[in-house]
Amino acid sequence: MAAPLRFQIEQNFARPIAGISLNCPVLHGQRQRLEPKSRAGSEMKITLLYDNEAYLKSLRSDWGFSCLVQSGGKNILFDTGARGSILLANMHALGIRPEVIDLVFISHPHWDHTGGLSNFLKLHPTRVYIPAGCPEPRHATEVIRVQNSLKIEETIFSTGALDNFEQSMVISQPKGLVVIAGCSHPGVGRILSAASKIGNVRALIGGLHGFSEFELIKNLELICPAHCTRYARQIQGLYPQKFIGGGAGKIIEL
Ligand SMILES: [Zn+2]
Ligand SMILES: [Zn+2]
Repeated sequence: MAAPLRFQIEQNFARPIAGISLNCPVLHGQRQRLEPKSRAGSEMKITLLYDNEAYLKSLRSDWGFSCLVQSGGKNILFDTGARGSILLANMHALGIRPEVIDLVFISHPHWDHTGGLSNFLKLHPTRVYIPAGCPEPRHATEVIRVQNSLKIEETIFSTGALDNFEQSMVISQPKGLVVIAGCSHPGVGRILSAASKIGNVRALIGGLHGFSEFELIKNLELICPAHCTRYARQIQGLYPQKFIGGGAGKIIEL
C-alpha cells in the first residue's frame, strides 16, 4: 500500500458546482494542509500536475498533460507531460512523492504525454498501462498493453485503445463515471460512447483537442477542458454551470 500523500496548497477560491467540490476553501492566502480522501473508495480526487497553463503560481506551465488520480485507495499517474524535470518539480511543489504512485496510465504515445515517463520511472519503477501500439517504456516493472476496454483497479477502467492509439481513463463512482482524456484524438463522441458501455458518464476532464460537437456534453455535470482544448471558451460560454478551468495545481474532488 502506498504511503499517504500530503498536500500543502494555496488556492484562491473554491466554487462548488452541483455537489462537486473544488477542494481548498478560500483562505485568502493562508496555507492549508489537505489530506487526500482516496481511501474511502467512493471518493475521488484529481490533481492536475502538468498543463499548458498553471493554476497555481508556484507551478510551471508547459505544453503537455498529466494528473494524479486518487480513487479506491490507489494513486495513479495519468500521463507524464512533455518534460520529466517539470513533472517532478510540480509534483515536488505539491508535496507528492513519486514513490506513492501505484501505477502509471499512458493515454497515447505523443511526446507531450510520455516525455516525462522515463525520468519518472527511473526514480520510481512501477507498472505501466499503455495502448497496445506504444513503444516499450524503459524502467517499468511491468508493461500492460491495452487494446480492449479493461478493468485496471476496483474503480478504474480503460476505454480500450481507440484506433489502437489512445485510451481514456474511466473512474467509477456511485454517482456515475468520470472520464479523463489525454488529447481526445479519436474524438470526444467515441470516447464518451466507449465509456458509456461501463456506465453513466458524469464528468469529463482533460485535453479535448478540436472538439466542437458541444451538444454531446450537454448532459454532463462537469467538464474541465485542459491542455490542447481549442474551444474551451466556447464550452464555458455554453455551459457555465458545468465548466471548470484547468491548469497545473487545480484539484477536483468528486
Ligand atoms: Zn497532447
Ligand atoms: Zn496527442
